[in-house]
Amino acid sequence: MSKRILIIMAMAAEARPIIDQLGLHELPANPRLTSHFPRFQGEFAGKEIVISLNGKSTEYGVDRIGTEFAALNTQSAIIEFAPELIINAGTCGAFSADADIADIITSDQPVVYHDHRVPLEGFDCFAMGAYPTAYCPEYFQGIEHKLGVVTTGNSLDMPDIDRQWIRQNQGMAKEMECAAVAATAHLYGIDFLPIKSVTDHIDIELDNVEQFLNNLGKASQKLSETLIRVLTNIK
Ligand code: SAH
Repeated sequence: MSKRILIIMAMAAEARPIIDQLGLHELPANPRLTSHFPRFQGEFAGKEIVISLNGKSTEYGVDRIGTEFAALNTQSAIIEFAPELIINAGTCGAFSADADIADIITSDQPVVYHDHRVPLEGFDCFAMGAYPTAYCPEYFQGIEHKLGVVTTGNSLDMPDIDRQWIRQNQGMAKEMECAAVAATAHLYGIDFLPIKSVTDHIDIELDNVEQFLNNLGKASQKLSETLIRVLTNIK
């Protein structure tokens, strides 16, 4: 039986290139889910692939970025597809010394939060989280990539306290979904792997939003090419 791989993505624009390049078909809405996560399925390199998006907010008409819908999306897709591996693919910010625009960052270290601060014994570690990744060098054979900590929060900006936490944790990829997806995968005992492409530098003057919008196309294309190569390498 072929390996089932679930790819969780937050934004439709990030996912479009990979959905098109893999030739996946959209699944009909699952009537049991009150909130609809757009899902695309197909076969590639002997694996069964499902891409599941966080979907669009009916109230605001934008992609449901951030942790809540990432966790709901992941849990419902796990129940429906019983994947053997979950990949969270998307874009991220990075310090300019660590990575260039469109560079690929993955991780062999636990995924953490940088905005869950609870200074109470036990709760502090629980809040920050440390959700394992299943990085294998073979998956990235021949693919240029950086290894670093992926760090999650629910804001695109970076107040000083978040910056301190990111620095303390040696965060390399700052984004808004990964720890929630990793936590859900961990809850179900499923292997988890992040693959992120850099859209913006978090330490330079130009506004993150402007950088993000300028670089989204390039980063999403690079993400798609990388995913195709990783999916090919996975045995
Ligand atoms: N302004 C954009 C929204 C981008 S939100 C728009 O209108 O389309 C950021 C999304 O990209 C999130 O899903 C997050 O995971 C990722 N991301 C990219 N750069 C980020 C950064 N610097 N900080 C946090 N998340 C970032």
